[in-house]
Amino acid sequence: MAGRGFAPLSLEEARCPVCSEILLEPVTMPCGHSVCLHCFQRTVKLTSLCCPLCRLRVSSWARKQSREKSLVNAELWELIRLSHPERCRRRMEQRDGQTADGGSWGSTDYIIMSLKSLFTLRQIAA
Ligand SMILES: [Zn+2]
Ligand SMILES: [Zn+2]
Repeated sequence: MAGRGFAPLSLEEARCPVCSEILLEPVTMPCGHSVCLHCFQRTVKLTSLCCPLCRLRVSSWARKQSREKSLVNAELWELIRLSHPERCRRRMEQRDGQTADGGSWGSTDYIIMSLKSLFTLRQIAA
């Protein structure tokens, strides 16, 4: 425990906007948006390193962070684990149980599609 009264994150605050699950190993981009590391690797790298939410180019930032091995926002990750330990554990188990890579293209397409419909909905609402 971090001790002195940390403010737990609500589930909404700890949710990844790409996969709508709890943020696992969050990567916080310079624009302030956070996505899970695996979502970052899947979608951000596929979209030529732009933030999937605001389209900010993060390529040089990402290169620098990977080089320094500081891509994951350790403080936020700690806070999420403290706020939602049970959810994190379950998601980690799920993820580790999956055969990594291979045949995941379908789901990536799906994520990009749902992002697109999200943008459309926002435009209508605005
Ligand atoms: Zn995610
Ligand atoms: Zn952004």
